[in-house]
Amino acid sequence: MAKTYDPNNIFARILRGEIPCKKVMETEHALAFHDINPQAPTHILVIPKGPYVDMDDFTAKASEAEIAGLFRAVGEVARQAGAVEPGYRILSNCGADAHQEVPHLHIHVFAGRDLGRMLAKA
Ligand code: 5GP
Repeated sequence: MAKTYDPNNIFARILRGEIPCKKVMETEHALAFHDINPQAPTHILVIPKGPYVDMDDFTAKASEAEIAGLFRAVGEVARQAGAVEPGYRILSNCGADAHQEVPHLHIHVFAGRDLGRMLAKA
């Protein structure tokens, strides 16, 4: 069943300028800003400007331009952060099992230290 977008989620409010953020980059289709509770020396969130709950919603409904715009922005953020070498990780939590907290699609960009293995063991 399709998830309903909550227009008052915290990232929607950041997009509307109602709540401040430490902006890294803005394009036609994406906004990038520093995570308020960083888990690595570089921890940037890249979000689409459109109202998408998560990766499932986005990949089902967004236009080609929005999808390209978001992923181009992710790559550009990592380059601008100087993270291509020695490396970075992107991550997007989708739904309850992934512990997604904010119901507006966001891609985490982590860098600046050895990020360890992909997932902790269950
Ligand atoms: P999730 O668990 O949904 O993948 O990640 C949500 C992320 O949003 C967390 O890393 C959290 O620190 C970040 N976050 C939550 N509220 C705010 C906020 O108001 N501003 C910023 N910049 N980040 C936030």
